[in-house]
Amino acid sequence: MTSQSALFDTYARVPLTVERGEGCWLHDTDGRTFLDFGSGIAVNGLGHAHPHLISALTEQAGKLWHTSNLYRIPDQERLAERLCAATFADRVFFTNSGVEAVECAIKTARRYFYAKGEPDRVGIITFQGAFHGRTLATIAAGGQAKYLEGFGPKAPGFDQVPFGDMDALEAAITGETAAVLIEPVQGEGGLRPVPDETLRAMRDLCDAHGLLLIFDEIQCGMGRTGRLFAHEHAGIAPDIMATAKALGGGFPVGACLATEEAASGMVPGVHGTTYGGNPLAMAVGNAVLDVMLEDGFLEAVEQKALRLKQGLVSLVDRFPDIFGEVRGKGLMTGLKCVVPNTDVVRALFDGHMLVVPAGDNVIRILPPLIVSDEEISEGLARLEAAARAL
Ligand code: PLP
Repeated sequence: MTSQSALFDTYARVPLTVERGEGCWLHDTDGRTFLDFGSGIAVNGLGHAHPHLISALTEQAGKLWHTSNLYRIPDQERLAERLCAATFADRVFFTNSGVEAVECAIKTARRYFYAKGEPDRVGIITFQGAFHGRTLATIAAGGQAKYLEGFGPKAPGFDQVPFGDMDALEAAITGETAAVLIEPVQGEGGLRPVPDETLRAMRDLCDAHGLLLIFDEIQCGMGRTGRLFAHEHAGIAPDIMATAKALGGGFPVGACLATEEAASGMVPGVHGTTYGGNPLAMAVGNAVLDVMLEDGFLEAVEQKALRLKQGLVSLVDRFPDIFGEVRGKGLMTGLKCVVPNTDVVRALFDGHMLVVPAGDNVIRILPPLIVSDEEISEGLARLEAAARAL
């Protein structure tokens, strides 16, 4: 055993132990302060220790933690109604994580066709470079060999086509296809936005073939791109959507949203969860929405994103041997590196700034959405210092 603890060795952990955080800043047990431009991989959308989230959670903790989905949970119904009012959806199923929300989305699509008397329509088409989570079904959906290796037979019913390739997508559709599943902005795959016109063409293609369109907005949703959900930029809507991460701001929560029609196969008894949608999670989820739906919040994200992007473009111009191009959309942004991205992550860590590596040699720069202009300038200065140190 090489591990320093009794934990499974599934993470190559960085030598950092965080004690507390506030806003965009983290304080570790050695007295160091880090600028957090990783947001726990797009989770801490409202930063650390947001006062409204703290009071919502502590107030709920003093009242009720858990009953069961056998009973009505008013905050769950309220959050579902608010999410529906803010999106295309009519129905919501709450989960504890992103991957469960994707699993629910896939099950919802298959049950839709099953209930319509087409039980063979189970196929889900996904895209190369995708990441949908780590359960047995979602590693099949993601299709990445590194996540499938050693875990036995790949779950059937998932086909992949090249990222954004509409001809390949159309060619892959068969009589057994149920749905197309896509991240409107690929996260782990290297911050690759699907062009708006491609998303629109995908919507048309799904309509023409009677397929359901599923968006995985677990990383790109909840305000990250300057809209509540990234697909809004394209002016179209999916039939089913998975969200999580910033929905709970750090409290574990996810949700599968669907239209009335797409959710029609999800009848009593076919799906369930012990903890999903429990009162603690729902109190926090409602508190997150309180803040994100405030006038001007999402507009401010767009403005901050512009400011950050200008600075990143300038870094690419001035350090072409280190940074290749700016990637992403809104504050789901990053840099494709020329040197190994892990070297850049390490140099930034040495300069007390956290970012997250992604595929395609990219570093993800995902500051909390509440980042200030001064903090953006500070982040850019630390990126420049890292580039000089490399
Ligand atoms: N889908 C996307 C796009 C993600 O980025 C992630 C996590 O990074 C997941 C699904 C899985 O979410 P979770 O880790 O909460 O299960």
